Amino acid sequence: MVSANKKRVLITGITGQDGGHLAKLLHGKNYEVFGLIRGQNNPKREATIKEYPYVTLIEGDVTDYSSLIRAMQVAKPDEVYNLAAISHVGHSFKVPQLTSDVTGKGVLNMLEAIRVTDLENKVRFYQASTSEMFGGLEYNRPKNGYNEESSFHPRSPYGVAKLYGFWITKNYRESYKMFAVSGILFNHEGERRGLEFVTRKITNAVARIKLGKQDFIELGDLWPKRDWGYAGDYVEGMWRMLQRDEPKDYVLATGETHSIEEFLSLAFKEIGIDDWKPYVKQNPAFMRPAEVDLLLGDPSKAERELGWKRKVDFPGLVRLMVKSDLNIESKKI
Ligand code: GDP
Repeated sequence: MVSANKKRVLITGITGQDGGHLAKLLHGKNYEVFGLIRGQNNPKREATIKEYPYVTLIEGDVTDYSSLIRAMQVAKPDEVYNLAAISHVGHSFKVPQLTSDVTGKGVLNMLEAIRVTDLENKVRFYQASTSEMFGGLEYNRPKNGYNEESSFHPRSPYGVAKLYGFWITKNYRESYKMFAVSGILFNHEGERRGLEFVTRKITNAVARIKLGKQDFIELGDLWPKRDWGYAGDYVEGMWRMLQRDEPKDYVLATGETHSIEEFLSLAFKEIGIDDWKPYVKQNPAFMRPAEVDLLLGDPSKAERELGWKRKVDFPGLVRLMVKSDLNIESKKI
């Protein structure tokens, strides 16, 4: 039963990592949650229904404008969170045009669908922008980390498409006075992260090595550094951005940066292995045509104005992920 006085939310990208965390958070805050689900016979449908039975799924695709109009008419949302994207940097080099259509133009489609259906201009819109827009090169890297004023230099088709999404969101805010904001989120990980991302790839392999199911892990470069936080903390920041009186963009980050090697070392320590080197092989297939060297965010504006701060620290994140993968892998045959 859909209640008349509950706040209503439409989440695109409901089957992804952040979609699940956000659905859970907003359900807990008594929202009626609608999620846009892509494709015929989507393999993630059953798992999503099982884990988030309170979400009403609406079939659609951010590349199909007409489906977004329909989703707006069905959900009648107060808030829209656009989390749908081809979100893997490495993959975006392999499908650059599709990435532009989904991760870039998809944002415009969603904004237009809101603009033409929301005649009172009441809907609040969140765009999932990313630290990948900064590019991590030395010349544009502020000492205390990237902030809302830093310059952009994306290094992948994903980063370029996300930058389009960032600017078109800003443009709709300025042109049509929409409450449309971007959260510029640094890497956020956790037990729901896809196995194609390096953190989860490592924690899953570490669990399997511990259980004798795997002998080693193949990785690309280990020197890049990232500002890694816990996804569960970050969705709270997204929600806070839409509760403000004024629409503004915010960086969410931990303010710390760590190399993949550091992540590896902590993950192996969790299973009692101090020397991880015998278990890791380098494979150029996992290296990228252009690399983002170092990402470090400065979350001070979000801390000041949203009262947001990450709760889970770096060792806590690694621990949580290894523990979860040990649990998952030990239940599998
Ligand atoms: P990203 O920061 O959004 O690109 O998140 P990823 O988790 O995909 O990658 C983080 C960093 O890990 C990048 O610098 C990758 O080049 C590096 N990396 C090294 N080996 C791997 C690997 O096997 N898989 C992935 N996904 N990344 C790797």
